Amino acid sequence: MAKDTFSSQNKVKVPLITKSVKKNSIWVILLLMVVFLIFNFFMMLQIQSFFKNTIDDRLHHELGHIKASIVCENNSFKIVNPTELNEKAMREVSENSFFLQIYDTSKNLLFESKNLENYESIPLMTLDFKGDYLFNDLNIKYTGLRTGYTKLYDCNGNLKGFIQLSTPKIKMNEVVEKIINLTLYSLPVVIFLFALISLFFIKKTLNPINKIIDVANEISATNISKRITYEAESTDELGRLKQTLNNLFDRLEFQINQISHFSDNASHQLMTPLTAINTELEFIMRNGHPKDECRESFEIIKSQTEKMIQIVKTLLILAREGETDNAGKKVFNFSTLIEDDLSQEFKDQKVSFEIEKNIYLMGESDYFKMVMENLISNGLKYSNNMEVTVSATVSEKRVRIKVKDQGIGIPDNEKEKVFERFYRGNTSEIKGIKGYGLGLSLVKLVVKQMKGEVHIEDNHPHGSIFIVDIPIVDFV
Ligand code: ADP
Repeated sequence: MAKDTFSSQNKVKVPLITKSVKKNSIWVILLLMVVFLIFNFFMMLQIQSFFKNTIDDRLHHELGHIKASIVCENNSFKIVNPTELNEKAMREVSENSFFLQIYDTSKNLLFESKNLENYESIPLMTLDFKGDYLFNDLNIKYTGLRTGYTKLYDCNGNLKGFIQLSTPKIKMNEVVEKIINLTLYSLPVVIFLFALISLFFIKKTLNPINKIIDVANEISATNISKRITYEAESTDELGRLKQTLNNLFDRLEFQINQISHFSDNASHQLMTPLTAINTELEFIMRNGHPKDECRESFEIIKSQTEKMIQIVKTLLILAREGETDNAGKKVFNFSTLIEDDLSQEFKDQKVSFEIEKNIYLMGESDYFKMVMENLISNGLKYSNNMEVTVSATVSEKRVRIKVKDQGIGIPDNEKEKVFERFYRGNTSEIKGIKGYGLGLSLVKLVVKQMKGEVHIEDNHPHGSIFIVDIPIVDFV
């Protein structure tokens, strides 16, 4: 019933980057960004700790030498190796300098290296530490220092003072700054790369779903008995999706077949009594009966019966849509069908024909007659009986049949929908023009069976043009 509805879904233009791809990509980009930032942060901490260890080793080594050059004599300290406390690194100020200070336990400065003479002393930051050595960071007026401490004991092993040795952390700070700058400057490029990577992977992940959608659309549009055959394990999501859709198609196929059988049966059953009524009416009217006053009523009954026969015939054809029986297909002369039958049928209405001679088509001539009747009577019905022109021209082994009217026209968004079964246009509903929404689905089906196409264009200034293109039978 809704095959054309399904096929129109098929034509929805899917953008290259869909909403779900966008949404998932944003999450993946955010996740990758967090991983990238955490990684850089830990790398920075690692580098910092590596630098600190290297500096601490230098400070430890130097503190050991300084301690060894100070000895205790008569409860006081004596510098036995003064050159150790007057090295170049302790005289000059550079990125490798050592700033040496020796304090007593009351924080009185006993000695400071030469390079501190022009600067204020570095405060003694700690007095209380376990063990012999301690290393920590000191920030003096925007300068980061790494400082090492060790204890000085007198001859009896009593704590008498502290040696404090500091060195700038310039190199370490430079490297950390470089890492931060690199992280910040590379951020746009990194985001761009992450976006590309995540789009690629998410598209790849969604690809199987797209394949299943394509096959499912194809099935619903063309062949309901086909099934999705995508290879996937029944326990994974894609396998379950495939199974669910295939089950759905099974149920749909079963119900469509049931409806078609019912429609086929019901139409068959109705056709016999209707044809009998019609024949009887023809007989009564041909033999001068009934009385003149009843004649009009009989004519109405006859025309309504003919309408019912038309509807039932249409239902019969539509119910047999899936059948591929071509036995009834014969070559017929379309030009004579128009001249002999249709021009007679519409002789009392404003219908003009311009048909080339001897156009032969392959199909059921009765069905194609119904196609033309539907198009012409729609043209009259939806224009309040204004003129309808029918033309047929042959070119490149195809005939192009045009049925032009000057009626209410069909808006663009309905030009495909009107071919769906039971669809009735908004305007015709509003204007109260009677109909069942079956005629054009018959047109589409029969034309398709004859390997042709049908579409609608606007007629200017008013109305519609139905254009049917069908291959002709060429005897040349
Ligand atoms: P029905 O005419 O019985 O409603 P059809 O299948 O023939 O059913 O047409 C479907 C719909 O297409 C109509 O309801 C009408 O809205 C629109 N339509 C068909 N032919 C014309 C036409 N010539 N001009 C304007 N609208 C038309």
